[in-house]
Amino acid sequence: MSEPKKLYIKTYGCQMNVYDSERMAEALGGEGYVETKSHDDADMILLNTCHIREKAAEKVYSELGRFKGLKAEKPDLKIGVAGCVAQAEGEEIMRRQPLVDLVVGPQSYHRLPEMEAKTRAGEKALDTDFPEEDKFEKLKSRPKAKRGPTAFLTVQEGCDKFCAFCVVPYTRGAEVSRPADRIIREANELVERGVREITLLGQNVNAYHGVGPNGDMTLAQLIWELDKVDGLERIRFTTSHPNDMMDDLIEAHGTCSKLMPYLHLPVQAGSDKILKRMNRSHTAESYLQLIERIRAARPDIVMSGDFIVGFPEETEEDFQATLDLVEQVKYGYAYSFKYSTRPGTPAAERPQVDSVEADDRLQRLQATITRHQREIQDGMVGREVSVLFEKPGRFDDQMVGKSEYLHAVHVTGSGAQIGDIARVKIVSSGANSLAGEVIR
Ligand code: SAM
Ligand code: SF4
Repeated sequence: MSEPKKLYIKTYGCQMNVYDSERMAEALGGEGYVETKSHDDADMILLNTCHIREKAAEKVYSELGRFKGLKAEKPDLKIGVAGCVAQAEGEEIMRRQPLVDLVVGPQSYHRLPEMEAKTRAGEKALDTDFPEEDKFEKLKSRPKAKRGPTAFLTVQEGCDKFCAFCVVPYTRGAEVSRPADRIIREANELVERGVREITLLGQNVNAYHGVGPNGDMTLAQLIWELDKVDGLERIRFTTSHPNDMMDDLIEAHGTCSKLMPYLHLPVQAGSDKILKRMNRSHTAESYLQLIERIRAARPDIVMSGDFIVGFPEETEEDFQATLDLVEQVKYGYAYSFKYSTRPGTPAAERPQVDSVEADDRLQRLQATITRHQREIQDGMVGREVSVLFEKPGRFDDQMVGKSEYLHAVHVTGSGAQIGDIARVKIVSSGANSLAGEVIR
């Protein structure tokens, strides 16, 4: 039997890319590839890129440059670029970096096996189409091997919202939802492999409207179908848009026991003037009212969000409105970014905020968020939570898992195994995690 070929995948960016990398590795697994953790012994290197952060493309070019020596030593080594930078840059990647053999966009990676064969025949392979066919249908069903207790499952892709700062609608294309039966089938396959918690993914996951047995289904209806999957204990979803937070989804937070009390609901800013210029189509007030309704359905829910500071024309007063909103919501987690221009997006052409000023705002926002985060984490001490154990801790006999609120929790000497769910009493709150004792 011939030696398996080795595949090294480096994943940048969001959870959707983590999921895509898994599926790409599985697709190439069918061509005899096994994954390796080191690029040195790889037969193929695949960079699964993200275009969201500043200078994303430049970072990819510099990473590629580092493989020059390796490629000179191993001329058979194939190098590929996947993901949103591949989509945005296309052929330019091969022109600027001739060592690249393959460029594949996020909607075409089901074609990787043919593309890989083409590179083995000494040709270059480029595919950044938005094909008609459903890539998920073309991909083989998921392998049977045992895996960890948590998994991502993409249910929706793309975005039609066109926020003025964002590249996603251009790199991931229009919003598309996967049919419900395929998602349920994939969830069952994951559960058979040991998964107990699934996070449903989509750039706008709560805009989900996939075909079900009686017409299009909402995300809440899909969640209720997943609730019936035996052995699946926990359901999460990310990322949501405030405008798509439908009544049935809010209600599910109060009634579906498998749906975890954690919600990532980005608002981006607290000033209505800025929200309008961002093309967010919600106001600070409508967002706050929404949170009130969510908390009425599930009072203990932990909120999470995304923020951009220094968006073009943001004044100190606008920024204060963001701080006010943060003070009102009190996020358990939040991701905050300094605005940076994305060529081709509407905001890129507008007058920019002074960079030093934007840095200062970011620091102030992060200090406020960190204070709330701390309060919420520390407030868990003395409470009972449920923990899904994911891996051994750093110390002997220690296990680490996540609470329903997504806090990392470690326990020692409990005999808990990976994949167990236990009730845990929280006894202390550390820098980034909680410590607890299993009570049953
Ligand atoms: N669809 C999600 C939403 O609407 O919130 C997530 C989109 S994006 C992958 C994740 C986050 O990156 C955004 O919520 C936003 O805060 C941030 N982001 C996107 N474009 C940005 C830009 N040009 N500058 C700074 N932050 C940006
Ligand atoms: Fe980007 Fe999210 Fe806005 Fe869509 S809704 S354009 S993904 S920030």
